[in-house]
Amino acid sequence: MKPPPFGYHRARDVAGATALVAELGEDAKFLAGGQSLIPMMNFRLARPAHLVDIARLGELSFLRRDDDRLHVGALTTHHEVESAPDRSVRGFEVVREAMRWIGHLPIRTRGTAGGSLAHGDATAEWCLLAVLLDAEIVTASPRGSRVIPAGEAFLGFFTTLLEPDELIVEVVFPKPAPHAALTEFAERRGDFAIVAAAVDLDVAGGRVTGGRVVLGGVAPVPLRVPAAEALLGAGERADAELFAACGRAAAEAVDPPDGPGPGADYRRSLVRALVARACEEALAR
Ligand SMILES: Cc1cc2nc3c(=O)[nH]c(=O)nc-3n(C[C@H](O)[C@H](O)[C@H](O)COP(=O)(O)OP(=O)(O)OC[C@H]3O[C@@H](n4cnc5c(N)ncnc54)[C@H](O)[C@@H]3O)c2cc1C
Repeated sequence: MKPPPFGYHRARDVAGATALVAELGEDAKFLAGGQSLIPMMNFRLARPAHLVDIARLGELSFLRRDDDRLHVGALTTHHEVESAPDRSVRGFEVVREAMRWIGHLPIRTRGTAGGSLAHGDATAEWCLLAVLLDAEIVTASPRGSRVIPAGEAFLGFFTTLLEPDELIVEVVFPKPAPHAALTEFAERRGDFAIVAAAVDLDVAGGRVTGGRVVLGGVAPVPLRVPAAEALLGAGERADAELFAACGRAAAEAVDPPDGPGPGADYRRSLVRALVARACEEALAR
């Protein structure tokens, strides 16, 4: 299947890319790994008149530590993160581990962190991780740069706060999360998750003193679950009983879509099981 005709432009630098998309108007789109945009064009779900190819902007491809922070360049591929050495992701192992859930290897070797965040799929691992770990999404546009807190970035079904000519430059994870985990369920290996659960626990002296729970596949955006987070903040012993209660609280709190595909009750039962499992994995890390 082929995409509809489009004009192709190769960007030389970030400023040139954003200026060109601004000049070409709303019918122009950035092209990164092409693993979401090209299939959408092939299926006629998107018909941009112009693509501005940013894939060769090498300055946007990096994985860097600075003190406690982890910086991931927008063009860093899922596979580059998946195969990062221990020292560069220490404390952020959840980010590296989550990559294995994304599609298949050929998709992970082309698809990028920035492309995934910009695409804004509510089950995408990058979007869940960004909300879970309070990441900052750094962008550039002809109006300058800005920092978007991940918690404010996702507005609705495949809709983000990004302006059409605003390019994600990097995503910054502000502090290590040694007790965090992401797990999910899909019908087949490599498919998008039906439901995904990500958990970040604060653990001290065998007790859970706080935590964050983020779900994919139950709402148009990655969803935090305050009812489950409240349980994690109560200082209870870190054990299977607490984690099962957390799963139940999350399942009761969500209002997932009732099809097409898996129904609401099925998604709720996945939430119950996956939140508990993510808590166990986060504690064991
Ligand atoms: C079969 C299949 C299975 C997949 N399974 C999963 C999965 O399980 N989990 C998952 O998360 N993803 C999955 N994906 C999608 C994949 O992760 C994509 O790589 C990702 O969604 C988009 O990244 P990209 O670099 O390919 O972006 P592109 O497809 O090039 O672009 C996607 C969108 O983002 C915009 N964009 C790209 N880069 C930037 C930037 N730096 N700044 C601003 N806008 C930008 C583009 O204009 C476009 O609108 C799957 C894809 C396929 C084909």
